[in-house]
Formats: sequence, C-alpha cells, structure tokens
Amino acid sequence: MLINVSTLLTEPVGHARRLRADGERCLVAEEGFEQEVTGEIRLIRSERGVLVMASFDLLPVTLECGRCLERFQMPLHLDFDEEFVLPRDPVTGLTPEVDSDDFLIDERRHLDLSEAVRQYEQSALPIRPVCRPDCRGLCPTCGRNLNVETCACLPVGRNDPWGPLRSLAERFQTEDPDGSPQA
Ligand SMILES: [Zn+2]
Ligand SMILES: [Zn+2]
Repeated sequence: MLINVSTLLTEPVGHARRLRADGERCLVAEEGFEQEVTGEIRLIRSERGVLVMASFDLLPVTLECGRCLERFQMPLHLDFDEEFVLPRDPVTGLTPEVDSDDFLIDERRHLDLSEAVRQYEQSALPIRPVCRPDCRGLCPTCGRNLNVETCACLPVGRNDPWGPLRSLAERFQTEDPDGSPQA
C-alpha cells in the first residue's frame, strides 16, 4: 500500500493529512504476506520524515486452535504509530540518522505501509490461539473433539473434580484386604 507524500514533505513540521483506506492491498511478496486494510490514516510531517498513525481493520486471519486443532477465523484490528524516515530531506538537504529497523520513504516520495502492517499483524497474533475461550479441546485419551462429542474416557489431570477422591478410593482398594494398612 503506497502513499505519495511528496507535497506533505515540502510543508513544515506538524502539518498533517487524513486519509481513508478502503480495502487497500498490502503485499510483501518475499514474506508471502497479503492483507487488506480498511480504516483511517493520519500523516504528520516530522523532523525526519512522516509520522504515520494508522487505525485499521484487517481481513480475518485463519488460525489453528491450540486446544482442539480446528481452524478458525480471527478478526484483527491494528492501531500503530510509525515514523517513515526520509533518507535525505528535500528542504534542508540534511541526512538524518537512520537505524536498520527504520521504515524509509523512497526516492519517488512514496511510503509503503505493507511491511509495517505485516509486522504489526504478526505481533497482534496470539502465541497460543484458542478458537473460543471455553474451547474444551481434544480428549487426551481418545483424541475426540470434546466441543462436538463426548467420550467415555475418565477425565484426567487438573480439570477432574473427583480426581482426589478417586485416587483415595484406589489406595483403599490396593490396601491389605484384612484391613491392616501398612504405615
Ligand atoms: Zn478450539
Ligand atoms: Zn476420550
């Protein structure tokens, strides 16, 4: 998604523009990234270039639930501020200090939001996606999806409210039938 900022760059620091994105395409071919953004963009002339303040709704992303392994769609909203740096200022002729992770304005005075959207989308994605907060996941014994069916396996682990009682009962069963427990 390219934005031409050539006019804004000739204006004093603090001058601003407001733009609307309607399903604008963001493409980062080398990362296999494609997304569409809809929302507001505010551009402010800064000392080093242009500050971008974006508020975007993205197309839903398909994720795999970490509990039930089903695929599901997650809607995403991104809010980010990012400065795009002009390698050489057309007004002052100065070359600002540029870090390797700075976003740059190209020679034709365009800034490309695609890579920023890709990075912010990546950090907005959950590390352990869950299809819904109450997803019951797969039965650890038989592997059935407990959201869609039940199984006859005994519950295991921490979610078993009768676990302590059951293990107590098992202990009595293994004790000497004569009723003389060994200490
Ligand atoms: Zn799930
Ligand atoms: Zn089961």
